[in-house]
Amino acid sequence: MIHEIQAKTLLSAVKQPDPWFGLKYNMNLYRGCQHQCIYCDSRSECYGIENFSDVLVKVNAIDLLRRELSRKRVKGMVGTGSMSDPYTFAERQYRLTGQALEVIAQFRFPVHLITKSDMVLKDIDTLDEINRVHAVVSFSLTTADDDLAARVEPGAPRPSQRLVAMRALSERGIHAGVVMMPILPLIQDSVDNIVNIVRLAQAHGASYIIPAFGVTLRDRQRSYYYDQLDRLFPGLRRDYERRFGIQYFCPASDADRLRRLFDELCDQYGIATQVPRYEAEPLPTQLSLL
Ligand code: SF4
Repeated sequence: MIHEIQAKTLLSAVKQPDPWFGLKYNMNLYRGCQHQCIYCDSRSECYGIENFSDVLVKVNAIDLLRRELSRKRVKGMVGTGSMSDPYTFAERQYRLTGQALEVIAQFRFPVHLITKSDMVLKDIDTLDEINRVHAVVSFSLTTADDDLAARVEPGAPRPSQRLVAMRALSERGIHAGVVMMPILPLIQDSVDNIVNIVRLAQAHGASYIIPAFGVTLRDRQRSYYYDQLDRLFPGLRRDYERRFGIQYFCPASDADRLRRLFDELCDQYGIATQVPRYEAEPLPTQLSLL
């Protein structure tokens, strides 16, 4: 179900420096996501989204964004939040992400999109324009196996489709890479999976991979995830409960070894393990120091 809502504000400032994604501002154009990943953190109670398969569409978002960006004194990377994928299916109808990118291009702000969808290619020309300042597109990949992805990320385009989109962006000179998180313990924490993700990422033009070796689980998100384990991987819930209890971060098996292997592969392929940073344009006052 899709519900249209009016938002009061859109951009939120990221208060601490963001070492993972390099963001200064965040905006959620949608709340709720049709990709339906079984591990999605946005089901956690703190986000207050009752039915995560419903998508709330902020129909006045573009006016808000124009107004709010015009008042910003500090340039910084704009991200698309974590309460939805910017290319959830509702984007086909509402084009909020596409329009927001056009506004960001007008105001010459940098952007970092994180998505599981090849739908991003519809906005490639706008991203090209933003890239005169700085445009980064990260594809979320938790497995290189399309069949496994169909089980754990049932509504999202398959990893093979994401990789093809990544190559197209990279060929246009747009910074493209992978957010390799989460890696689900006992499901995706094999050497083969990590090796395949890094190899395929490299073959499709990734310049960086941001990794995490495990998954975070809490309250409502954990209950939903465990229900899905019962359905998709019978017996696995028991192993999770025994191994992790109610702890928030649930590490991959042999996480240190996987990390070392990952680092070696990235070194070998010349892939960075951090997002390409935005170098802010120097402020006029700095010139007076010369
Ligand atoms: S694509 Fe992202 S926001 Fe959407 S369900 Fe998956 S993890 Fe959640």
